[in-house]
Amino acid sequence: MDLYDLNKSYPSKRGDVFHSLQIFVCRVCDSMTNRVIIGGYPGYGVRVKCPNSEKEWHNELKKKIAWLDKPHPKKYREELGAEICELRARYKNDIENDIKGRPDFLQKRYI
Ligand SMILES: [Zn+2]
Repeated sequence: MDLYDLNKSYPSKRGDVFHSLQIFVCRVCDSMTNRVIIGGYPGYGVRVKCPNSEKEWHNELKKKIAWLDKPHPKKYREELGAEICELRARYKNDIENDIKGRPDFLQKRYI
């Protein structure tokens, strides 16, 4: 399978889907993908979606992580952090990656 280097040239029509040499790591669940979609106006350009983003637990985890970014009392913060760890552990086996071809694992980007 041919992988496209995002630092060089790659398909650029809206709706084009391809796999990139670079890999993308989800900040929420740590899954990896190299499936890229070209978006249209507004927000033209490279779009990468976590392969687990439609799952309910992913949504829950995402909300908790966003909530953790807000200022909280120390104790609450710790509890919330523990909850996030627990959720990550509980759904560990449900995490799907979407890697095709042989990407360069040293070229990591975060989504
Ligand atoms: Zn994810």
